[in-house]
Amino acid sequence: MTHVPSRIRKKIEWLLRRAEGALLPERVLAEEGSHLDPRRALIKLAESKDEVERVGAAARVEQLNRTLESRRDDDRRTYLDQHGVAGIQRFHSRDGARIYSMSVETFPKHINNVYLLVDGETLTMFDCGSGMDTSRRDLALGFAGVRGLFAETARYEEVDWCVISHAHFDHFGGANLVKKETRARLAVHELDARVLSCFGERLVIASKDTDVFWRRAGVPDAERTVLIAMYTAAKSAFVAQEVDRVLRDGDSIGPGYKVHHVPGHCPGCMCLQVHDVLLTSDHVLSRTTPHQFPQAITPFGGLEHYFYSLAKVRRIEGVNFALGGHEDPMWDLRARIDAIALFHRDRLAKVQACCSRPRTVVDVARELFGEQDGYSRILALDEAGAHVEYLHQLGHLKIGNLDEVARARDPVIEYVARA
Ligand SMILES: [Zn+2]
Ligand SMILES: [Zn+2]
Repeated sequence: MTHVPSRIRKKIEWLLRRAEGALLPERVLAEEGSHLDPRRALIKLAESKDEVERVGAAARVEQLNRTLESRRDDDRRTYLDQHGVAGIQRFHSRDGARIYSMSVETFPKHINNVYLLVDGETLTMFDCGSGMDTSRRDLALGFAGVRGLFAETARYEEVDWCVISHAHFDHFGGANLVKKETRARLAVHELDARVLSCFGERLVIASKDTDVFWRRAGVPDAERTVLIAMYTAAKSAFVAQEVDRVLRDGDSIGPGYKVHHVPGHCPGCMCLQVHDVLLTSDHVLSRTTPHQFPQAITPFGGLEHYFYSLAKVRRIEGVNFALGGHEDPMWDLRARIDAIALFHRDRLAKVQACCSRPRTVVDVARELFGEQDGYSRILALDEAGAHVEYLHQLGHLKIGNLDEVARARDPVIEYVARA
């Protein structure tokens, strides 16, 4: 399969979601979907023919156009079952839960999948978006779409449980609104509960630990100041939020969904098992290799935990398919896990080779990702740091400038491969 830059894929997916707005019931399009402007999106899709083909979406765009022309209910139903509409898609678990995936723009151009589980009388949300305006808008569209397209009666206000998959802002930032606007009880893994309930403290301490990590990584003072401001900026609107239930590995929540604790990507990261469907959040994603943080910033994070958790999820029996916190469904979860593990082994080998002479984490980040700025810079440093840390923990790297590190108060650390 040829590699398609994610920028192009995202652009086409974006246009498709908007264009599919034309399949929404009229009232939903007018009220909750007015931002979609499907007519314009269809024109843009037609103009982007080459890119549509590159991402392999030509057949779907054609099917969409045909469905819109035919106006037959059968065609609409078929399209809805195969692709969903405007980012709202339905799946079924073996034991009768209806699982709705809703695409939510949590940060500009950043899409999360928020799940609504309809199971007997119980409504459960898995994640709740960021709470930003676009996130609220898309959740409202999601619920309206679930009612209008799939004849459900589910309402946001009437959700019983909101289970937070992990304490990253795009997944939990909407928790204040959930508590204010719905009757839902909030549940989070015990290692992430503190991020919500002591949010101010957590933001301060995490930014201090991050600053130390960046200093040791070799990020200059001036740049660190800018990065720290960026790291904390979007999150300051959240108010500390008590949780109603803390979860542990093996717990059961809602109508009997099983919690699998998968530390690594985040300390309290969890997968939720809904019968034969595994909601994997950011632990396993269909295309992207989930982001890694050094344990130096977040205990219970880091590659060692992550590899362990990948192996743990690989062993879960009876999973027919998996749905991630972003991107597409995964029909072969174990194959995807293997691909991700292999990717990290390969990246570890690259880092090890890069450290044939003494290198800082900044050097390694540059080697892996080239020059980056803005938030990408933060992500590149985290990722490089996590790999360097893991190799160092296992004794494959050692500190190359130990005398200097011993003398200096604020040393920059250089790592070198052990012969
Ligand atoms: Zn995450
Ligand atoms: Zn995420």
